[in-house]
Amino acid sequence: MRDVFDAVIVGSGPNGLTAAATLAVAGRRVLVLEAADAVGGGARTDDAFGSGIARDVCSAVHPTGFVSPAFADLRLTEHGLRWLTPDVSLAHVADSDVIALRRGNRCLAEELGVDARRWERIVCSPDPAGLAADVLAMPGVPRRLLDMARFGPAALSPVDVLARAFRTDRAATAFAGIAAHAGRPLSAAGSSAAGLLLGMLTTSGWPVAEGGSQAIADALVSVIRGHGGVVETGVEVTDRAQLPSGCDVFLDTSPSLLRRLFGDQLGRRYGRALRRFDYGSGVCKVDYLLSEPIPWAHRPDVLADTATFHLAEGVEMIRATENDVAAGRVPRRPWILGGEPTRVDPGRAPAGVHLAWAYCHVPAGCDVDMSEAITAEVERAAPGFRDTVRGTIVTTATDLARHNANYVAGDINCGAASLRQLLARPILARTPQVTGVPGVYLCSSATAPGGGVHGMAGHRAARAALSARR
Ligand SMILES: Cc1cc2nc3c(=O)[nH]c(=O)nc-3n(C[C@H](O)[C@H](O)[C@H](O)COP(=O)(O)OP(=O)(O)OC[C@H]3O[C@@H](n4cnc5c(N)ncnc54)[C@H](O)[C@@H]3O)c2cc1C
Repeated sequence: MRDVFDAVIVGSGPNGLTAAATLAVAGRRVLVLEAADAVGGGARTDDAFGSGIARDVCSAVHPTGFVSPAFADLRLTEHGLRWLTPDVSLAHVADSDVIALRRGNRCLAEELGVDARRWERIVCSPDPAGLAADVLAMPGVPRRLLDMARFGPAALSPVDVLARAFRTDRAATAFAGIAAHAGRPLSAAGSSAAGLLLGMLTTSGWPVAEGGSQAIADALVSVIRGHGGVVETGVEVTDRAQLPSGCDVFLDTSPSLLRRLFGDQLGRRYGRALRRFDYGSGVCKVDYLLSEPIPWAHRPDVLADTATFHLAEGVEMIRATENDVAAGRVPRRPWILGGEPTRVDPGRAPAGVHLAWAYCHVPAGCDVDMSEAITAEVERAAPGFRDTVRGTIVTTATDLARHNANYVAGDINCGAASLRQLLARPILARTPQVTGVPGVYLCSSATAPGGGVHGMAGHRAARAALSARR
């Protein structure tokens, strides 16, 4: 039975499923093998808080998925995916100050004052989705050369340098928070890249998927099955003998599985790149079941209209957290990324039940439960929050690594966003998914363009395979 396939895809994260869907639409017979009991990898939603309550296990907000050329090509919105896009893409809470970044840059002058024009010039693009498509296709030839000529050098700058362009702490803090999604010290070259990409996409929107991030994975599976593909769960691939013979192999996995299965055939360049491959810091996440939405003390109207918040008193708090983490220290007062999906998608829980999540960066491999530190930061900004908490699920960095082999030591992007790996992930090549072993592709977020639910690494691997077999 297994010999009837043209391609086997190991791992059903957004990249693996996108590779499989792209191949299936092109007429290839595909088999997806997933170690976990459910499909989706970082795009999974479960009912751990009880039936009828949809908790996102990992990813929750989808600025890159929303503009992903791969997802657009596969017409996921015709397969049940519905984006819910709040007016406020991101609210940054800095003590009593709340900065709202809205779709279409609405009210930017009120939010950023003298820095509004600078923010537009440095962070924004007249065509955010188009420029994001170019960035996600890097290192290909960009369509928007002028925009990329501006974006590229700025992305390679440290946040500490780029943020000097802002006159106010508010703009610098908002930018540093977005950039620090990548979990890099603010002094590191390349640390501005995530800030520019995700900051620019506050203009197009930071949506959630209706019903939970699983809807993205389910839409991809619908495309695959609709084209005759087969998806099997509960199958961990540890040996080449498990793979059907004579077909292309796509690994939506960490580089270590590629080395284990095909290390004897890898060329020197790719093999060396994998040996030098660096993983990033870890994450500790808390999911909250609440009796009411978070009782924010300041600008509750703004926070009622967003799925995403950042909590950091200023740039210094973000800098201290990321420096601690890079030095292997557990931050005492970490800056926080979080969200309240039920603000935007109330259908995820019955009436009177609300959901929130929050996480902070921790050193790689850290098994410390950060829930008290995280809850204390939310409580500071929203007195009374603790009284609304009906249940929590804590996932430490070591738990993350146990749940998903790609999250090595709790690194949610399967590879550090270091300067080297912004340029060469894992090698500098037009399609770094091509491993040099005939018919074998590495297509996870360990390859360019890196982390996030956008499927672009899988899409590029599939396109490379399709042109190789033409
Ligand atoms: C807590 C958290 C929050 C996040 N928040 C966001 C967010 O809000 N927005 C966003 O865009 N991104 C977010 N991310 C990042 C995003 O989820 C990942 O970058 C993305 O899922 C990577 O996709 P992928 O397909 O490369 O790998 P993954 O999604 O990790 O999928 C890999 C799959 O391969 C399977 N696998 C691995 N090894 C084997 C094997 N040997 N055999 C069989 N199967 C195997 C795994 O079980 C997994 O299902 C978050 C991640 C985490 C953990």
